[in-house]
Amino acid sequence: MLNYRNVNIVLAMNLVITVLFFKSSFLYVLPILAWIYICATIYGVFIIKTGYFLKTNCSIKTKERITALTFDDGIDSELTPKILDILAKYNIRATFFVVGKTIHQNQEIFGETLEKNKEILNRIVSEGHLVGNHTYKHSPTLTLNGVDVIKSELVLTHKLIYDITGKQVRFFRPPYGVTNPSVKKAVNQMGYDVIGWSVRSLDTTLAPERVMARIKRKLKPGSIVLLHDNRANTAEHLTEYIDYILSQNYRIVRLDELLGINGYDN
Ligand SMILES: [Zn+2]
Repeated sequence: MLNYRNVNIVLAMNLVITVLFFKSSFLYVLPILAWIYICATIYGVFIIKTGYFLKTNCSIKTKERITALTFDDGIDSELTPKILDILAKYNIRATFFVVGKTIHQNQEIFGETLEKNKEILNRIVSEGHLVGNHTYKHSPTLTLNGVDVIKSELVLTHKLIYDITGKQVRFFRPPYGVTNPSVKKAVNQMGYDVIGWSVRSLDTTLAPERVMARIKRKLKPGSIVLLHDNRANTAEHLTEYIDYILSQNYRIVRLDELLGINGYDN
């Protein structure tokens, strides 16, 4: 299996063998090994489904036509409720990976936003959806920091969700799917399960017809579908995506049901 530990072991063994038996060619082999190490590490950092640094849940192996919908980057005061209305209409339970600062956003200028977003978070829980942690700031550079900084963001959002909903979340989705050894340590200290995806809709960048085309191409039994609840296009076209998934005889289940692991500690 291609992972951080195995790659390090294989490269270290190659290095030792080269030094012992091919002394003269050592200087030629070293840059090749270094290049392999760099490529493997970059691949592992950015492609979450590799589970290169830590165990990630991106889909399950099953023949049953089941799938889970996940929504990232909310709470969005306007769009998250629209998504919830659609899910309620279909009686579907989904998972929302919440960015902590979206709840606090603009609270000093628009005090109402804070209360409104708290209500939306409570609505997510009361309507049977699952909540997960998606860091506090969703910074693209978060993973360049040490374990303490990463963990502090996880703790901040974990406490925020707990204070509002009373739920101790257990699922974490790394922003941009980026993982590394520091993320692994922070996640382990939190006791979290890491969630990725197998259907990346790219609804943050692509037009709805292309998002639909990706869902059609990538959806398989056991898939985890990644969408965003802060995108107007997604709220507007979610009905079409769900209609397609249901037309293919899929059952849409909550993520913890799909994975068979608890989404909350309480
Ligand atoms: Zn995100």
